[in-house]
Amino acid sequence: MLHIVLKLFTVFIIFFTSGFTFAAEKRKKTVILVSIDGMRWDYLKLHQPKHLMSLQKTGLSTERLIPVFPSKTFPNHYSIVTGLYAENHGIISNRFYDPDFNETYSLGNNKAVANGKWYGGEPIWVTARRQGVRSACFFWPGSEAEIKGMRPNIYKKYDERVPGAVRVAQVLEWLRSDNRPGFISLYFSEVDSKGHKYGPRSMETKKAVQKVDSLLFDLSRGINRIGLEGVVDLVIVSDHGMADSNRKNSIEVSGLLKKAFIDRSIFSSTMLMIWSKDVKKMAELFETTRNFDLIARQDIPARYRFKNNKRIPPYIAVPHQGWVFSNSDLDNRIAMGTHGYDNTQKDMSGVFIGHGPSFGAQKIKPFENIEVYTMIAHILGINPAKNDGKDLLIPYIKP
Ligand code: AMP
Ligand code: ZN
Ligand code: ZN
Repeated sequence: MLHIVLKLFTVFIIFFTSGFTFAAEKRKKTVILVSIDGMRWDYLKLHQPKHLMSLQKTGLSTERLIPVFPSKTFPNHYSIVTGLYAENHGIISNRFYDPDFNETYSLGNNKAVANGKWYGGEPIWVTARRQGVRSACFFWPGSEAEIKGMRPNIYKKYDERVPGAVRVAQVLEWLRSDNRPGFISLYFSEVDSKGHKYGPRSMETKKAVQKVDSLLFDLSRGINRIGLEGVVDLVIVSDHGMADSNRKNSIEVSGLLKKAFIDRSIFSSTMLMIWSKDVKKMAELFETTRNFDLIARQDIPARYRFKNNKRIPPYIAVPHQGWVFSNSDLDNRIAMGTHGYDNTQKDMSGVFIGHGPSFGAQKIKPFENIEVYTMIAHILGINPAKNDGKDLLIPYIKP
């Protein structure tokens, strides 16, 4: 008799606790971090994306999300997920040279982007996984690499041709799965690419913003249909903004770069990285060209947080506001929009919207994107790794 009672009791305990874990599983939170590449802070007013405007109104928002320097895609995406300035996480630009590896990292180099040796800090998906929270990335710079011995539980090899609708459908499938990830990333590039090609105010950029808006509407509707609106938070960010550029205000540097005093240079329209054999001669030569500054590494203003890393070259050249570098040896086209400038320039700011059970309707002062990392860790109930943020967003998160 006692035997049977004990058995029944065990069955009851198992049934009760598994039901309990099942319920807890259902209640656990998921943060979907969405990046709309190149979505300038004022595109909501300018291009009127209806769904984003409604999320902004009913969620936590700010006028502007301030990027890190340089205001480029890779450094900023990686700052958002690590809470570190570029000098501290090491992805100092989209392309850079490492003197110890004697190799150049580039966003277009599949092998490099998937190689963990380039990445410092601890991305949120690693922080999460280490503490037992599953992560799935539908693209994010760094998500293909093994960092601190770990990758996201699920990740995809970057392919910009994958349609937005496929990305959203996959995220919804992850949400429906029994093993719902706690952290999900989702990335869209077209607002940035249209902004470059046609300019920030163009009809093409407006259409790209509207398209991403309708995809995000589908995502929200999907979350509601699955019945997860009480546990899923959307954190919508962009990595940087976009400034107008044109051929008239371009500084052609192919000639300068060919002159003998430069050992190595890395070109972008908003920054040249320079290693020189003869700095004095190089500076003299540069004097003949206007509309940019040549800055020695030790003179880079402290606010850029762009000094303490061996990958930062001895010299950088940056164009004055309204100007861009061009290099006809590499590319003859001049874009209608660009970014990469001083991160405190307003045009370089992005967007931030937090929407879901962890957020109330509130608009707060502009803040730096390095604050997003600890905010997500806080929502997920995990301990963040060392970072440069000041926990500024935590007071705004609902328990
Ligand atoms: P930018 O020149 O700073 O505007 O960089 C934007 C480009 O980065 C876009 O054209 C994307 O195709 C590319 N990109 C974004 N995410 C990734 C990724 N995870 N892997 C490789 N390239 C990416
Ligand atoms: Zn970008
Ligand atoms: Zn861009």
